[in-house]
Amino acid sequence: MAPRPFRLGRARTGLGIFATRPIRKRTRLAEYKGPRLTTKEAEKAEKAGNRYLYEINSRWTIDGTPRSNIARYFNHSCNPNADTSIRGGRIFVYAIKNIEPGQEIVYDYGIDYLKNVIGKSNCKCSRCMRRRAKRARERRAAQKRKAARVAAKRRAARKKK
Ligand SMILES: [Zn+2]
Repeated sequence: MAPRPFRLGRARTGLGIFATRPIRKRTRLAEYKGPRLTTKEAEKAEKAGNRYLYEINSRWTIDGTPRSNIARYFNHSCNPNADTSIRGGRIFVYAIKNIEPGQEIVYDYGIDYLKNVIGKSNCKCSRCMRRRAKRARERRAAQKRKAARVAAKRRAARKKK
């Protein structure tokens, strides 16, 4: 097997996976591996706090907890460059964009995970971080404009006296 075109590394949210070579769109990157759980077992595991459950269908879920499951280290992003697909009861992660060396490889975990596990306002993906930074800049700019208006009014009031 060809060596992996990625490595584990430090990401904003802990560990993540980063490309070490250019990766072409549609390249299969890894299999999301782990024991198969029945839906009932999976529900129990979820209640116990397992965050690595991947439902394949109405009967089976993969428990991706084992550290040997490299695919568990792909982080979530709202602006992903990878995705998962289920083929014959197995889950594969593949690139959906051309990926440059050094870029983090991320896929969208889905709206349920974002809402219930991460929390929409806690997402640390690059898109959400940019969006939040932009909003903070706009807030600061608005405060500055307001402060300038107040100062101008004060100056005008002083002149009248
Ligand atoms: Zn996000």
